[in-house]
Amino acid sequence: MNKIIIHWTAGTYKPNATDLEHYHFLIDGEGQKHEGKYRPEDNENCNDGKYAAHTGGGNTGAIGVSMCAMAGFVSQNNCGKYPITPVQLEACFKLCAELSKKYDIPLENIMTHYEFGLNHPKTASHGKIDITYLPPYPEVKKNEVGGFIRNKIRWYLLKI
Ligand SMILES: [Zn+2]
Repeated sequence: MNKIIIHWTAGTYKPNATDLEHYHFLIDGEGQKHEGKYRPEDNENCNDGKYAAHTGGGNTGAIGVSMCAMAGFVSQNNCGKYPITPVQLEACFKLCAELSKKYDIPLENIMTHYEFGLNHPKTASHGKIDITYLPPYPEVKKNEVGGFIRNKIRWYLLKI
């Protein structure tokens, strides 16, 4: 495994069947972890079609972690009924730190789906908005979210 991509589901606070197929790990609104249908190792080779399809143009070797939230999100002033919760976000940081350690994935290879799309404009991931806004930290700007997340993961890495 060579990278971790962080998403939001654009759904409610619970994973649905589609979410469980498309991500390796989901964090619900209460911060509980759910394992998806596929293991991270299933994404080492995506040619057999049996893998978690979470990042268009970037699924090979990529672990998909998603927060169950953000249905109805329009903008930071109109976040819908399921904004990412503080406990959910912390659980996501912690899980990413654990996965980084387990799979020996460097911090710089942990990114949001939005960042992947920015860096790979010819893929289906281009223009994805997860994650451009963190409801628990409204002061963090769109293009600072990835760095903010990596800093938080770094803190957890020092503790485990
Ligand atoms: Zn995504």
